[in-house]
Amino acid sequence: MTFAELNLNPAILQAVTACGYTTPTPIQEQSIPLVMAGNDLIATAQTGTGKTAAFILPALERLSKPSAVPGKGPRVLVLTPTRELAGQVMDAARNYGRGMKLRCGSILGGMPYREQLRLLSSPVDIIVATPGRMLDHLERGSVRLDRLEILILDEADRMLDMGFSEDMEKIVSRAPSSRQTLMFTATMEKSVLKLAENMLRDPQRIELAVRTSSHELIEQRLHVADSLHHKKELLRHLVSDGKLTRAIIFSATKRDADDLARELSRDGHPAAALHGDMNQIARNKTIERMRRGGIRLLVATDVAARGLDVNGISHVINFDLPRFAEDYVHRIGRTGRAGANGIAISFVSSSELNYLERIERFIGKRLPEQNIEGLAPLSVLRRVSGGGNGARRPGGPGGSRFGKPGGKPKSATGGKSWDSAPKAGKAGAPGASRPQRGATHQPVVEYRSRRAEGHTGQNN
Ligand code: AMP
Repeated sequence: MTFAELNLNPAILQAVTACGYTTPTPIQEQSIPLVMAGNDLIATAQTGTGKTAAFILPALERLSKPSAVPGKGPRVLVLTPTRELAGQVMDAARNYGRGMKLRCGSILGGMPYREQLRLLSSPVDIIVATPGRMLDHLERGSVRLDRLEILILDEADRMLDMGFSEDMEKIVSRAPSSRQTLMFTATMEKSVLKLAENMLRDPQRIELAVRTSSHELIEQRLHVADSLHHKKELLRHLVSDGKLTRAIIFSATKRDADDLARELSRDGHPAAALHGDMNQIARNKTIERMRRGGIRLLVATDVAARGLDVNGISHVINFDLPRFAEDYVHRIGRTGRAGANGIAISFVSSSELNYLERIERFIGKRLPEQNIEGLAPLSVLRRVSGGGNGARRPGGPGGSRFGKPGGKPKSATGGKSWDSAPKAGKAGAPGASRPQRGATHQPVVEYRSRRAEGHTGQNN
């Protein structure tokens, strides 16, 4: 199929051609005709599949005809979980809609109100927004949705996970029932389907095969960590390696990102944090410093690192494992770019075993464990056969993405199991010295799981 066969407006077609796109991607080929026919849609598609154009192009097609309703509110509203994603969607809308006379803008949390109020004071075609700020404007009466023709929920599963469910519902309750609603999600979780049930009308469903990207140039490995202290020791060792030219270190929380960056800087490493509490200007400045080589170690959270594109990242270090298996793939994809080799190292503690299993199922292979002399774990990692049986969706049979059998480590220090290793191993209260590494391999914490028996840690 070609773009011309999709019957798009010539101005849109021209913009798509100017972008160098020759054929629609599978998600575009399937969703564009359905959306142009006026259907509601729920689609599973990850970033990188061309999903943005899959909803923006038919939305632009709708905007090529004048609105039947007078007013100033948006005709198309895209809700996204993060400012970064909103930025990407806005860029795509401007890019694909460059041949049309459109008024678009974003309504994002953490940004000044003044510009947003100016944007909303005249008729606007497309708004890309994060839910909290959008609801804020609706409640203040600075925007109305009575002209809304298409509502798009991008990365709906992530918005749910970030606690935007109520905000989304309130926003939707202010939209006319005549609207068309499109929902894009990485996974078809129960909670997503429930949201869809409330917000979509007889939706068409598109489920694309999972794209886990092979990352052939990236060497992936795993270090078992007994405690937060142990993770820090491992990190300190790794960042002292001369082969590590530039690294992104992922932490679970903003606070840990700040703390780690501070500690690394104190140790003499040019390091900085990147997370969602920083305003956009500060984030851009940090990324620019990284690009120019002023920073060697960037400690980031997933949200802030989405869409981050810096060349020459030799290592990605998962100080904490991500909750979502797709994030693992996104994270490690920051290295091994442009034909270069990359190394992705993950630390796993007992409270993160559940996440490790999801990741291994998702990528379809087991991450090999490695030990560093003098820093070998005292714990034994025991996991389910993990990977190798073909990638399976998190949330599919064998593991619910929202299930918490292993507990949910809120932060590097939050998981209960952090303390269990020293306690169980009588390594002492905080502050007491660790038992000599390598001196004993008594399992201090056994990372057990459903079919654990018969699988012991490989290096213990
Ligand atoms: P997305 O999944 O929307 O984040 O898009 C991923 C990347 O694919 C973006 O850089 C787009 O510019 C690009 N892209 C989208 N559609 C096409 C297409 N039909 N052909 C080639 N590249 C595309």
